[in-house]
Amino acid sequence: MEPKILSGKECAASVNAETQAMAEKYIEKYGIAPALAVILIGDDPASCVYVNSKAQKCVELGLRSEKFLLDKDATMEEVLALIDKLNNDPTIHGILVQSPPPPQIDEEKVIAAIDPAKDVDCFHALNVGKMLIGKTDGFFPCTPYGVLKILEYYNIDPAGKHVVVIGRSNIVGKPLMALMVQKAKGANATVTCVHSGTRDLASYTRQADILIAAIGKSEFVKADMVKEGAVVIDVGINRIPDATKKSGSRLTGDVAYAEVAPKTSAITPVPGGVGPMTIAMLMRNTVRAALMAAGEKL
Ligand code: NAD
Repeated sequence: MEPKILSGKECAASVNAETQAMAEKYIEKYGIAPALAVILIGDDPASCVYVNSKAQKCVELGLRSEKFLLDKDATMEEVLALIDKLNNDPTIHGILVQSPPPPQIDEEKVIAAIDPAKDVDCFHALNVGKMLIGKTDGFFPCTPYGVLKILEYYNIDPAGKHVVVIGRSNIVGKPLMALMVQKAKGANATVTCVHSGTRDLASYTRQADILIAAIGKSEFVKADMVKEGAVVIDVGINRIPDATKKSGSRLTGDVAYAEVAPKTSAITPVPGGVGPMTIAMLMRNTVRAALMAAGEKL
């Protein structure tokens, strides 16, 4: 049977339409737009593209975007002073610092300085802790939250299923484990996390009802690592050389799509899968931050 293609583009469009409506209501009630401050230190080309697409999406959905471009030689003091100013600005609801910052910047200290109520990336230890203990009055990190939303949108309930996550990064793998294991709607799964230290990784991935790949290795997951009928979510975004393309490269996921897709019941493509969900959930978190700051119960 043909697998169901889980379109992140379609799901993100639906989430964004809701977010736009929430933003409109907020503006009507409070007279200002939910606002996201994005800090970019240096001029890394990929980071510039990400920052611009976040700003553009804000404008599209009726949010206010403020970009702060700091010199690549900016000091910790300068970055912390800017964060302090934004923390104390009631017209700014979300703050994020584009990663990775240049080497003189201690990213952990920078994240710790962001007011947890404005931490729309959900990188602050307080929000990570809240997520782990199942509290829903903080934020969920954007990419794992996007994965949950795709499953919800396509009526794939993880409850009672075996979810295997490949990768244990702090921004994708670990929070995905934490979210999937909660006794909550859209979760309640049995979760296994495999990583670079796992022996015989395929023996675990083959047991997955839902397999989530977040490794950053092009087409790492092959057909013989996947159970017949599994749902496969590919978080990976890798750029590999391709002489047949005008740009000289193309994007691939962490899953060898062509050989894996026919074995699955449903699969996300790359591009157009998890990718568009990350920005969609960032926008949602920003509106959420604005509503929470206004004292609204969510
Ligand atoms: P990371 O490099 O921080 O973490 C990769 C993880 O994979 C590590 O925990 C490591 O243990 C594991 N790993 C690496 N090689 C392995 C191997 N051979 N076997 C088993 N495990 C292995 O990466 P990340 O930030 O979690 O990102 C993962 C992928 O997801 C990347 O391709 C990244 O571009 C992509 N990503 C996409 C989005 C999105 O919006 N779709 C967001 C974030 C990350």
